[in-house]
Amino acid sequence: MSAAEKNRQALLALFGDDALVSKLSSTRIAVVTPPADTPASATLLARVLVDALARLWPNIDFVGEIADSLLVVGCDAAEAGAAPVDGLKVGWAPPYDIVVSVGGPAPCTSSSHIRVGADGWHMQFGKGAVCGSSINPVGPAFAAGLAAAQVFAQCFASAFEGYGLRALGDWSADVRELFSAPQLELRGLHLQDTYVFGVGAVTHALAWMVEHWPEPISGELHLVDGDAYGDGNGQRYAFMTPGNIGTPKVNAVANRLTAAHPSLVAKPHELGMNDYCQDRGYDRPFFRVIAGLDSEESRRQAGLKDPARAINMWTSGYHIGAGQYVPGDGRGCLVCAYPEPVEAQLDEVTMFHKQTGLFPDVVRELLDSARGLTEAEAQKVALAKGVPIERIIGEPLRSVIPVLCATGKLPLDEAKKAVDVPFAFSSLLSGVAGFIMLLRDVQMGNDSSECWNQHVFKRPSSAMIKVEGRHIRCVRCDAAALARSGS
Ligand SMILES: [Zn+2]
Repeated sequence: MSAAEKNRQALLALFGDDALVSKLSSTRIAVVTPPADTPASATLLARVLVDALARLWPNIDFVGEIADSLLVVGCDAAEAGAAPVDGLKVGWAPPYDIVVSVGGPAPCTSSSHIRVGADGWHMQFGKGAVCGSSINPVGPAFAAGLAAAQVFAQCFASAFEGYGLRALGDWSADVRELFSAPQLELRGLHLQDTYVFGVGAVTHALAWMVEHWPEPISGELHLVDGDAYGDGNGQRYAFMTPGNIGTPKVNAVANRLTAAHPSLVAKPHELGMNDYCQDRGYDRPFFRVIAGLDSEESRRQAGLKDPARAINMWTSGYHIGAGQYVPGDGRGCLVCAYPEPVEAQLDEVTMFHKQTGLFPDVVRELLDSARGLTEAEAQKVALAKGVPIERIIGEPLRSVIPVLCATGKLPLDEAKKAVDVPFAFSSLLSGVAGFIMLLRDVQMGNDSSECWNQHVFKRPSSAMIKVEGRHIRCVRCDAAALARSGS
């Protein structure tokens, strides 16, 4: 399945409304950049923005001095996901559904408008947003991710009614303040001995940040992932190009990083995390691990490799996050963040009962017989869940659940499990946040465990970072305490 079709299917499952999903292909977006003397941070911001937008939206016009190079970025992003590129063009042809202007005003138009700027660590939205001459990629990439998320939230505003979302409005922030790291500086980084587990969507965003960090980076960076690129990765992997498909992910990323930073030793390991660790052995402790993994279970396993320092990055539905874990002295480790679940799994009957409102004995009988719902039963579900009765009458129970799911009548966290929402901007922001956590870890070197959590469509604030204490049921921390008391 092409990434474009995967996007459509995922959105269909999320919104359950074909008309809304068709909006993806009918929406027209313009990205406007300055007409001349484009500042360095505008170029950085616009390139990241276009890479994220073009993985999802097929119709984008590019305006401004750097429009031609943005068209190339957009085409690479779309083609990496086997999406059509004939809707990507240089030129201004209003009206648009949404215009994003980078570092300045948009041409006069009645289209709805997002104005975004950045310079160094700063980002700015709304009135007066401008770009500066800094070549620091942090502010521009963070602003680009937020802007791409806002494009989505505004275009699908009707689907988000009741979520309490508001446009970012006139707002600015220093990224260092958001991450309790005012000391961060644009200077060289020594990574010592760092292992990246998982080279997927979030790691691709982090890798782009490493690649574009303008100061020298040294040390060893081990990239551990056994997978090759598939054409379905193109919907989310920042700066993945069509030429990557079929090649090992670790090789492509290692080559890019080595080219950008000659004193960095980027070593590709084409193996899954556990196989790699078994081959490597555990006689030398891991100094630093960066987890760019796609499941809680694999992140728990990464934590169990017992690194002295860990950086974590994740996306989950509308939420994203990144954490830094330096365990000891009551501070949490990466395993503390993902303790073994202890809640008993709901049995099937209880689950269907909760989902449909039918009594447990009826649920049991329906499941055993696989017969269709009677009119009375369908009536009951329709009333309890507010779905049209004609879509479920006569259907077996197992076919009723997808209807509830697709029409958004199930609680979001249940529906979410069924859908891998291809939000390129979520992976992007999570990876950028992971890079900032890495900067904190390398430059400040403080022993702290803190996690940053963010709703991807909401305005970030410095209240989103929290200290992570030791979890009472963490097996790694238990073992570490035992080892200490025995020595
Ligand atoms: Zn722990």
